[in-house]
Amino acid sequence: MDKKKIPTFTSRLPDVGTTIFTVMSALASEKKAINLGQGFPDFSCDRQLLEMVNEAMHQDQNQYPPMAGVSELRQEIAHKIKSIYRYQYDPVDEITVTAGGTQGIFTAVMCCVSPGDEVIVIEPAYDSYIPAIQMAQGVPIRVALEVKRDALGKVESYQIPWKKIEGAITEKTRLIMINSPHNPTGMIWKKEDLNHLADIVHGTEILVLSDEVYEHMVYDQKVHESVSSHPELVERSFVISSFGKTYHVTGWKVGYVAAPKSMTSEFRKVHQFNVFTVNTPVQYGLSNYLKEQKHYLGLSNFYEKKRNFFQLGLRKTRFQLLPSEGTYFQCADYTGLNIPEAKLNESDFCCWLTSEIGVAAIPLSAFYTKGQESGVIRFCFAKQEKTLEEAITRLYKL
Ligand code: GLN
Repeated sequence: MDKKKIPTFTSRLPDVGTTIFTVMSALASEKKAINLGQGFPDFSCDRQLLEMVNEAMHQDQNQYPPMAGVSELRQEIAHKIKSIYRYQYDPVDEITVTAGGTQGIFTAVMCCVSPGDEVIVIEPAYDSYIPAIQMAQGVPIRVALEVKRDALGKVESYQIPWKKIEGAITEKTRLIMINSPHNPTGMIWKKEDLNHLADIVHGTEILVLSDEVYEHMVYDQKVHESVSSHPELVERSFVISSFGKTYHVTGWKVGYVAAPKSMTSEFRKVHQFNVFTVNTPVQYGLSNYLKEQKHYLGLSNFYEKKRNFFQLGLRKTRFQLLPSEGTYFQCADYTGLNIPEAKLNESDFCCWLTSEIGVAAIPLSAFYTKGQESGVIRFCFAKQEKTLEEAITRLYKL
C-alpha cells in the first residue's frame, strides 16, 4: 500500500510559533484561570453601538462596502483626527478601514518594505512587527528601549534609545516602527520624542509606521502625542488605530490606517488583495455611533480608574509595579516573590501562575525576538472591578 505523503515546504516564518496571546488565552480557558493575559475587555460595549450595527444589518447594509471602507466612516475618522490632532486627512485618499490594527500594520509593512530593506524596531515590541518585516523579506534591526532604574534597581521610566536609533540608520533603512502608548510597557512618547524622530528622518527616504491603537488611553493628565499632530512626521507616516480597543469590541476586528495620498495608494494596492474590504454593517454602525458619541474622550478617565484600582491591589502583593502611563496594561516584576517559582523564566512563570494560581499574564520575553528575560510579566486591567479584585486575592497569596 502506498504511504500517504504530506508535501513538505519551506516555512516563510521558520522561527515563529503560535502567538503568545492565543497560547495564554487557551491555557487560561483550559485551567479556568482569570485571563489578564491577552488584551481584551471582559465587559460589553455601549448597547447603542450594538443597536446601530444591528440596524445597519436590518437595513440591508450587508454587501461589499467600497474597498477603502464606508465613505461615511472615513469622514467621521478624518473629523475625529482633525478635532483631536488638528490635522486634516482627506477621507477619500488618505484613510483606509482595515480588519483591525494587526492587518493595518502587516499591510503597511508589505507595501513599503522591499527585500533587503532595513526596518528599525524598538524592543520590546508587539509580536507581529518582526514577522511582518520577515514576510516582506526586509531585515529587522532591533534596538532596545532604555530602562531607567533607581538606586534599588527599581524601574523608574523608559526612554527612547535615540543614540542607538541614530546608530542603526543606514542607507538601507526604509521604515521605523514606533508605538505609543506602548504595548507592553505602557510608556508614552513625549513631544520631544516626536521632534527627535523628525530630526533623524529629515531629508531621508525613511518612512514611519506609528502604531497608536491605544491612543485614547493615557493617564495622569498626560496627552497622547500622535504622529498626525506632527507637521513633518505626518507627511511620511502610516498611523494605525483600532476601533476594537477604543469601543471594547476587539472581536470585531476593525481599525484604520491614515497616511498621505501617495502612501495610501500603495497601501490599498496590497490591502485590496489581502482582505479586499471590511465588514459593512459594523462600519455603518461605527460611523453612526461616532456621529453621536464622543465616547473616546472619556476613555482615559475610565481606564485610569481601573489602572488605579488594580495598582492599589497589586501594591498589597509582593509584585513590584512598573510605571503604566497608557494602554490597558500593567507590568510587574515577580523576582521579589518569596517562592521558588520566582526563579522561573517569564514564560514558565506565566504558565505556572495560570495553572496553579489561576491568573493568566503575558511574559515580557514574548515581545523580544531573542527572548530577553527580566523577570517581568504583563497584566491586562481592562476588566470589571470584581475580576480584578478576584485576581488580586489570588495574587496576594504569593
Ligand atoms: N494586542 C493584544 C495584546 O497585546 C492582543 C491582540 C492579539 O491577540 N492579536 O494583548
